[in-house]
Amino acid sequence: MQIVEQEASSIIVPSRLPDTDYVINPYTGCSFACSYCYASFMGRFVGKSRDDWGNYVYVKTNAVELFRKEIAHSRFSTGPTLFLSSVTDAWQGPEGKYELARGILGELVRRSYPGRVSILTKSPLLLRDAELLSALPHAEVGVTVTTDDDAIGRIYEARAPRNSARLDLLRELSQRGVPTYAFLGPLMTHYVDAPDAMDALIGRVAQTGVRFVYAELLNVARPLMLRLQSVMSVDQTEAARFVVAHADPARRQRLSELVVRLLDKHGLELRLGRVIDHADPSTLRKSGSPAPLAPLKPPQQGDAR
Ligand code: SF4
Repeated sequence: MQIVEQEASSIIVPSRLPDTDYVINPYTGCSFACSYCYASFMGRFVGKSRDDWGNYVYVKTNAVELFRKEIAHSRFSTGPTLFLSSVTDAWQGPEGKYELARGILGELVRRSYPGRVSILTKSPLLLRDAELLSALPHAEVGVTVTTDDDAIGRIYEARAPRNSARLDLLRELSQRGVPTYAFLGPLMTHYVDAPDAMDALIGRVAQTGVRFVYAELLNVARPLMLRLQSVMSVDQTEAARFVVAHADPARRQRLSELVVRLLDKHGLELRLGRVIDHADPSTLRKSGSPAPLAPLKPPQQGDAR
């Protein structure tokens, strides 16, 4: 893992994401290296290829200082929504040393920031900052969950915290009174063939005490799928079939419907009122109907870490 310290020129960036006015990314790169990560394009800003994603982290050492200056601008006095983070996980490994996300939260607490501060992470390191989160007037903390089977998760998230730890994180934060939500995604279409597994996953999420859920299907844009196929810890034939099956509009539609039905069953609100689907099937070459997708099997020889 290459860690590079550098100074940034700005830190609060206007956002085109739904539900968010500004995004804050204290790092470029992400040590969690998820195989499906759409943020792998960020490498172009630091001279890295998509294939290098997960092998470097650029630390914006002046992030807290920049944030302190920028948040004082009058445009933030009305409390536009802030989001940490859109193209990195702000509580990934180096955050333990650099405490940039923690410093930014501290500034927000100091200002008693009047707007919504939304956080999304996979990292239990966030618990370190639970007191700051509790002190923010309008914080909401999301944790990404893709499965409740850690062995399955290792296939496509080999270096990220295990999903079971993420569910524990949601439960712990909820018990401490921090408003929480689950980001369910990217959801893999093998759930179409295993609705009971999806039912169990959503049931476990509901038990953590989350207040609402975002749900998203796998983004099948071609550059992302090429990377996912090469990084998943299964053989290439199975990975290729997995990718093709995910591009099938009928399977995606069935998965969306399944998710909506099960969220309703478990009494969970679906934010945005829909399952997010970035699918653009024209970017994937398909040959006929994909074969039924066999359940994912964990790798045979331990983790790919
Ligand atoms: S944790 Fe998020 S930003 Fe980091 S590699 Fe995974 S999907 Fe990408």
